[in-house]
Parts: sequence; structure tokens; C-alpha cells
Amino acid sequence: MIDFGYTLTRDRQLDYDRGDFRFLRIVRAMEPSLDVCIGCGSCTATCSAGHFTGFNIRKLHTLIQRGDNETIKAELKKCMFCGKCQLVCPRGVNLRNLILAMNRAIEQLG
Ligand code: SF4
Ligand code: SF4
Repeated sequence: MIDFGYTLTRDRQLDYDRGDFRFLRIVRAMEPSLDVCIGCGSCTATCSAGHFTGFNIRKLHTLIQRGDNETIKAELKKCMFCGKCQLVCPRGVNLRNLILAMNRAIEQLG
């Protein structure tokens, strides 16, 4: 095969009709402040785990809305539960409770 100096990236398209939104419903019920997030990224910029592992808490918000639960399960283990993200959130999202809610939703759904 000819080496063009670049490669094709993996298809990241998601089918919303196939998304599993049970996770979103459980988490939203436990922590409604999820819905006031404006995606500013302050939480991710200050995240302790992010400095060591590339963990991206803002990305989890997007993944919940997309119903990409498997990726969330793998990523959530990286959180150190330090709470720094919550201190800097301009919208007052209760991020520590949100992370707890995500863990509980994983337990509920198996
Ligand atoms: S800091 Fe708050 S508003 Fe900004 S992305 Fe994080 S949760 Fe959303
Ligand atoms: S609680 Fe988790 S997501 Fe928030 S700053 Fe700490 S390690 Fe990052």
C-alpha cells in the first residue's frame, strides 16, 4: 500500500437511535445540575486525574448525552474524587455528586 504520510482516523459516528439513554436518565435524576453545564472546560483544565491520565470530565458530559456508556465506564475509574473540578465550575455543577451518580448508575445497570 502507498504511504501517503497520514492515516485515516477511526469512524466516531454515533447512532442516536441505538444509544442507551437509561444511564443518562438515572444520572440526571440523581444530579439535575448536569443540565446546566455550558461545556466551558474549566473542570477539565483543573482536573488532578487529567494531569496524570488524560481523563476528561467534560468529555464525560458529552458521552452521557450520546449514550456512550461503555466509554464512560472505562474512563470513570480514573477520577481521584478530589473535588477540584467542582470548585472552579462557573455554573455550580455538583461534579462530585455527578461522578458518584455515574458510579451508582453503572452499579444499577450492571
Ligand atoms: S466547569 Fe462546569 S460548566 Fe464548565 S464544562 Fe465543567 S461542568 Fe460544565
Ligand atoms: S474529582 Fe475527579 S474529575 Fe474532579 S478534579 Fe478531581 S479527579 Fe478530576
